[in-house]
Amino acid sequence: MEHEFQNQCPYCGEMIWMEFYPEEGRIQETIIDCEVCCNPILYRVRFDRDGAADVRADKAQE
Ligand SMILES: [Zn+2]
Repeated sequence: MEHEFQNQCPYCGEMIWMEFYPEEGRIQETIIDCEVCCNPILYRVRFDRDGAADVRADKAQE
């Protein structure tokens, strides 16, 4: 199963890779700093029953 997901930084558009494991929960979120612009990104993933993931990246603060 795929564990790495990418999404665009909501500030600068850089593609950010994150790892999530479905064994750690159906819904997970974490805040990481963009490597390029250093702004905090709220990264959320939701796993379906079959393991498919819906990943979102939003600004952690305005
Ligand atoms: Zn960025």
